[in-house]
Amino acid sequence: MSISKGVALVTGASRGIGRAIALRLANDGYSLALNDIPCNLPSLTALADEIGCVNVKAVSIAADVAEEEQVQEMIKKTVNDLGSVDVMVANAGILKSTPTLIETSLKDFDDTIAVNVRGVFLCYKYAAKQMIAQHQQRGGTPKGGSIIGASSVTAKQAWAGLSAYSMSKWGVRGLTQASAMELAPYGIRVNAYAPGSIDTKMVEKFAVDNGRDHKEYLAEKAQTVPLKRMGTPEDVANLVSFLVSDQASYITGQAVSVNGGLFFD
Ligand code: NAD
Repeated sequence: MSISKGVALVTGASRGIGRAIALRLANDGYSLALNDIPCNLPSLTALADEIGCVNVKAVSIAADVAEEEQVQEMIKKTVNDLGSVDVMVANAGILKSTPTLIETSLKDFDDTIAVNVRGVFLCYKYAAKQMIAQHQQRGGTPKGGSIIGASSVTAKQAWAGLSAYSMSKWGVRGLTQASAMELAPYGIRVNAYAPGSIDTKMVEKFAVDNGRDHKEYLAEKAQTVPLKRMGTPEDVANLVSFLVSDQASYITGQAVSVNGGLFFD
């Protein structure tokens, strides 16, 4: 085993953007705690095996990020198994197909907020508590850790048909800004990624739920992007790799766009 750069915990890591982030951080030299909901444990375990091949440790932790006790346990298990939490990537999120505001059921709204907002809040909160304790144990060194949340282009310019989802992603921006200010004294930086359309199962399901052919939908979406392609999970992972690195030591409180020019801040 090579010397680890630290420990990164990635939620929703069994596929898509979370999986790409986990693989990228493993290649960067982090030990990995991989989280997803229990039914995705087999994919997580396969990913942990794959990461083991690049000579860093990886553990799988099944937990629902919307449940407080499960998030607390997830942090505890990460520390027990790997020693610390130095990077928290609160990536897990859901997208419900809710055609318009007036067709959005309270259940779909609540489910969206539970994972995309409460889940990110719980991950930020309990990772920050652990990072503050580590900061104190390490004698208050300036490098306290890095927390990253999943926001979206829809948190900067909302999309029709995505009212609850857009709202949830604006929530991540607010949480990121306030947390960045509160945690700066401990050397903890807090940022978010704000992707445009990234080619993952989430987008595939959205297309199919809306009666669209997946490939046709992707081709059409790509034409709306100045760079004329959909984003890849690796495009987001590259950004996260930078944001958690020392090269980004003066960046905190930001929701950084990765969208092929679809929207300008
Ligand atoms: P995805 O649906 O492919 O993967 C999401 C993962 O999160 C899944 O493995 C799922 O099982 C997991 N998850 C869902 N609920 C969970 C819970 N309660 N606890 C733990 N894990 C849970 O999605 P993706 O496209 O990879 O998106 C990842 C993140 O990026 C999401 O927060 C999403 O909203 C955000 N995002 C995606 C896009 C895009 O175009 N794909 C754009 C902007 C933002």
